[in-house]
Parts: sequence; structure tokens; C-alpha cells
Amino acid sequence: MAAQREWFEKDYYQVLGVAADASQKDITKAYRKLARELHPDKNPGNAAAEERFKDISAAYDVLGDEAKRTEYDEVRRLGPMGGGMPGGGPGGFSFNVGDMQGGDFGDLLGQMFNRRRGGFGGRAGAGVGPQRGADVTAQLTLDFEDAVRGLTTTLHLTSDAQCSTCHGSGAKPGTHPERCPVCGGRGVVDDNQGMFSFSTPCRNCQGRGSIIREPCPTCHGAGIERRPREVRARIPAGVADGQTIRLKGRGAPGRNGGPAGDLLVEIHVKPDARFGRSGNNLTVTLPVTFAEAALGGDIEVPTIDGSTVMLRIRPGTQSGSRHRVKGKGISVSSKRDGETSGDLIVTVEVDVPANLTDEQRAAVEQLAAATTVNPRAGR
Ligand SMILES: [Zn+2]
Ligand SMILES: [Zn+2]
Repeated sequence: MAAQREWFEKDYYQVLGVAADASQKDITKAYRKLARELHPDKNPGNAAAEERFKDISAAYDVLGDEAKRTEYDEVRRLGPMGGGMPGGGPGGFSFNVGDMQGGDFGDLLGQMFNRRRGGFGGRAGAGVGPQRGADVTAQLTLDFEDAVRGLTTTLHLTSDAQCSTCHGSGAKPGTHPERCPVCGGRGVVDDNQGMFSFSTPCRNCQGRGSIIREPCPTCHGAGIERRPREVRARIPAGVADGQTIRLKGRGAPGRNGGPAGDLLVEIHVKPDARFGRSGNNLTVTLPVTFAEAALGGDIEVPTIDGSTVMLRIRPGTQSGSRHRVKGKGISVSSKRDGETSGDLIVTVEVDVPANLTDEQRAAVEQLAAATTVNPRAGR
């Protein structure tokens, strides 16, 4: 990865609560402590903790790696208006960080810092400058209950990934990509015309800033290989069949220091024998006896979490009528609405016995004799 725009915006030392001159050991210690406290498994449904967890992970990703940390410190020291930008002479133009695409900015920084790491494109990455990695699609089939509750799972997929032989450098193990002698690693060359200076991509290195003398035998210099890999994914509670979950930056790696693509997880939910779903409401159909429907009573209703709740039905409850059990549907949390819960919709069906004992038959015949209303009258 080349330097990111985020490096200017975030003080990673502050994020981890350590001093700027903290030792690597202290940084690791601080990170581990925070990671334990903020881990999503420990804070289910806590969006703020999740956000913090992501922040400290991003911070540690940089500060935990001594080389990256040095680069980060350097970037922070120079600031967005610092010197050394391609095409910018002494006291040259300034630009607005907010106006720039992350990728473009990464490119500038990558050129500034001679692309010390990241995908050095070889044959396969013939384009100039950083390229975002491809989005990768994966399928995930979930049990109904897992979809309702959400879960953390491991996806097994085969896709483009950082080459495991060269760790993405594209260079044969034991060798390193060399700084391009023509552009000095900047990937661009300046063409001075009077008082202006124009930058054009360096032809010698195709704008990469580096040259691979001995390509990695596995990826032939691309830094990327197709291989099976595992991705841990957190699937939020309440995902629906047919929904796609986007996992940022978990797709194919970028080339020439470009950002990784996203992983798109297509969700398939297996139907459940008892429960159905309508939005965030769960549905269930429950048989009741004629006596329960006619006389009313409390009936036990199963819920998705395995417990039961009592539902009171009134005397004269009709077959096919629907009854609402508040808050026993699907709990979802969103940034906008916080934690919200659907309901459980119970459809009552009067169960007609297929066989009657003599005693039951006598009772029903008595009921028939006492019945004065013809339900088909007027039809
Ligand atoms: Zn390789
Ligand atoms: Zn060059």
C-alpha cells in the first residue's frame, strides 16, 4: 500500500493513545489492550465500538510496522503542502486534498516515497499509475436463524490475492524492485518549458517508479496470484435472502500501489420449517383447537431464540386471524435508527381433528344440535 490520504487526516498515535516517540513494544501493547476491549465479539451491536475497533486496526496496521511508521511520520512531517510533489517547482502550486481521489493522491505519495511497497506491476499490470483491485464476489448460504442473528464466519474463496511468494513486490525472493534510474522513482519525468514544468509518465518504468530485474517466478512480476484464501466476515443480524454485503478492501489487491477492491458477499438464506419472514417481522402459523378459538385462552408461541411466549386469544378468534407479538421479530441495528426490533406475527389456524373418540363425537353432536346459526346463510 502506498501512503493514503487518511494519513494526513488521522493522528494514529492519538488513536492508540501513545506518544509519538513510543517504542514498537509500547505501540503493540496499547493496540492489544484496546483490541481486547473493543473487539466486536465483546460489543455486539455497538456501532461506536465497531468504528473505534476499525480505527485502532488501521492505526496499528501502520504504526505496528516499523517501515510503514517511518513513512507515515515522514508524510505527516511534510504535510499535504510539502515539497517534492511531481511537477511542482519550488514554491509551486498548492492543491486541495479534499478535491483529490484517494487513488490519485496515493499515487502522488507513492511517487514521493518511491513506492517502497505495494504491487509493482509487471507484465499483467501494464497500465500506468495505481489501479484499484477488482471487486470479488462470493456466495454465502446461511441458515435462517444465523441470518436473523448475524454471525462471524470464514469465507473460502479463490481469487486474485497478494502473491505469497514475493508478498506482492513482484520481485524474485531475495531481490527487490529497484528504483527507476530515469525518473528517480517518481514514475514521472518533468519536461521544462519556460516557466512551466509538465510531468509525463516515465517510459522506462511505465510510470511505476521501479524496475523489476528478476521477476517473481510465481506471479511473473505482477505481485498478484490467483489462489484460495480465507476471509473472516462479520454478517450483520437481519440479512435477507438475495442481499449483498460489501466488505471494503477485501477484494483483489490493487496494482502499483492502488487500493484493493471490495468483496461482495451474496447472501442466500435457507428457509425455516417454522418461521417465515416479512421485512423485519417474523411469521409463524400455529394450530389451535376449536375450543381454544371459540372460548379463548392463552397459547404458547415459539420464538426464534428458542424460548416461548404466551399469546392471549379472545373468545371467538377466527381461523386465519393474525396476532402480533411485539418485539419478537428480527433485531437490526443501523447507524441511523440504532437498535430496532420487528414483531412476531402469529397466524392462528383452527385444527379439525381427523378422528374423534366416542366421547368427543357425542360432544360435537351436542354442539351441532345446539347450533342455531347457518354460516352459509345469504351466500
Ligand atoms: Zn510473486
Ligand atoms: Zn521511471
